[in-house]
Amino acid sequence: MNPAISRRMRKTRSKNNSLEVAVRKGLYALGIRYRIHYPVPGMLRRSSDIAFPQLRIAVFLDGCFWHSCPIHRSDPKTNVAFWAEKLRRNVERDRSTDDHLRSLGWEAVRFWAHQAPEEIVRDICSVVHAKRGEHGK
Ligand SMILES: [Zn+2]
Repeated sequence: MNPAISRRMRKTRSKNNSLEVAVRKGLYALGIRYRIHYPVPGMLRRSSDIAFPQLRIAVFLDGCFWHSCPIHRSDPKTNVAFWAEKLRRNVERDRSTDDHLRSLGWEAVRFWAHQAPEEIVRDICSVVHAKRGEHGK
């Protein structure tokens, strides 16, 4: 594999993990309890990063490279067709996951890895509170 790409993959992965940890800590500090790496119901090998199964909320923290963030997407210079196809399939997969979740009455909420954890925590909180309201809790 192209060294620039493997570097970027490593960076994306660790950045995503530290973001995930920061978001989880933020939610926990606010007394919000969640599940992590929760399977998408009825879909094999797909899971959300953070989930509220009772409220049917699935949260995804999408890496900018893998999920083609509009700001940070960068097109690899080698194996162009291979990467274009791979990244396109990732985006398609995300959309089909969202559609599937919505068809089951779940709300799919996505964030980019470049967003600030506080901003993500705030948005998750408001979705959780809105859903709790609907559920009369
Ligand atoms: Zn980005």
